[in-house]
Amino acid sequence: MENKTCKLKDKCGACQLLNLCYSDTIEYKKKYVIDSFKKEKMNVKIDKVISSKSPYQYRNKMIIAYKYDKAHKLISGFYEENSHKVIDIDECLMHSTLQNNIAKYIKKLIIDFKISIYDEDRRRGLLRYVLIREAVHTNEALITFVVSDDIFPSSKEIVKKITSEFKEVRTIVQNINNRKTSIVLGEREKILYGKGCIEDLLMGLKFKITSKSFYQVNPIQVQYLYQEAINAIKFSGNETVIDAYSGIGTIGLILSKNVKEVISVELNKQAHLAAIQNAKDNNIKNVYFKNDDATSFIKELENERIDYVIMDPPRTGSTPQFLNSLLKLKPKGIIYVSCNPETLARDVNILDKQYKINYLSIVDMFCFTKHIECVCILKNRAGNTK
Ligand code: SAH
Repeated sequence: MENKTCKLKDKCGACQLLNLCYSDTIEYKKKYVIDSFKKEKMNVKIDKVISSKSPYQYRNKMIIAYKYDKAHKLISGFYEENSHKVIDIDECLMHSTLQNNIAKYIKKLIIDFKISIYDEDRRRGLLRYVLIREAVHTNEALITFVVSDDIFPSSKEIVKKITSEFKEVRTIVQNINNRKTSIVLGEREKILYGKGCIEDLLMGLKFKITSKSFYQVNPIQVQYLYQEAINAIKFSGNETVIDAYSGIGTIGLILSKNVKEVISVELNKQAHLAAIQNAKDNNIKNVYFKNDDATSFIKELENERIDYVIMDPPRTGSTPQFLNSLLKLKPKGIIYVSCNPETLARDVNILDKQYKINYLSIVDMFCFTKHIECVCILKNRAGNTK
């Protein structure tokens, strides 16, 4: 595969491995996983690596920041690494042609309609960010204008222009963020066009995407990730499974047809509500949703019979209390989906006395970055004792 070059690589800092050829980035990731386990005094072998057939243009979400430079030229792009300095990006290699084209078009509209840009220090001006989200499997796009005020002059004309230029844009939202914060989105939203959400199809199920909902960033590789997590176990159809750190419910909902029931637990209220909606939209009735901290929830279940636990915690990994509860719960298997090999190895080490690694794979979700996604299947050394 031919390597593409990005002249902004050193400034932007997002694609840390862009100086390597793609196959070398995979070698780097394999070694990183093996070394992370070695640090915990565990020797592991990687059973499978699912690299990406198209490691460029994979991201389904783009957040654009704006600034005027000293010559009053509009700069639009991403923040420089660890700063709030905007780098002018004409075309990002990791986003689709559609997203890049929408971004360029919006930049022109901002100039034509003389939209003022928000100044963080003076807290003046209107436009803070533009967020583009794409549902790749349905070819729909959502645009969110993050502005500092309820009043958005020229929004009607802007909407008209965008929607006549791009048939993929199904909805446009105004998000109001007038807080002094580096968090992109504010609480309040107004729908300027369409339904306020788009819909993607993933492994036969429909998922709604709003400006705020969490959705895995690589829509092609995520299918392999979920397959790795779900197909590793031969389910009989009678199992009760916990899907911990479940986000908008994707893994549990996709798995639901193979098992008796799934109990999903997620801390974030919005993600939890979206998960319930996703179950309804797909007419799935055997997944139950809990809006709770995974650690306190699993502690309550210690005496129940649970066949399998799927866990997909954030980068910080799980907690010792959660893992100790798993040791008491004694499921037949644990499916650990991880975006951080170091916390994965640390947590697997705690489980090691009762669970052994049966399978370990890497799915390259964040191509050319240092981020690594693993699926680790752990088997109860004693079988299920309950
Ligand atoms: N499995 C999902 C989401 C994984 S991201 C998917 O594939 O889409 C990790 C999720 O863990 C996030 O949704 C985050 O809100 C949630 N989370 C973080 N801390 C948590 C906690 N203590 N208890 C439960 N969920 C938590």
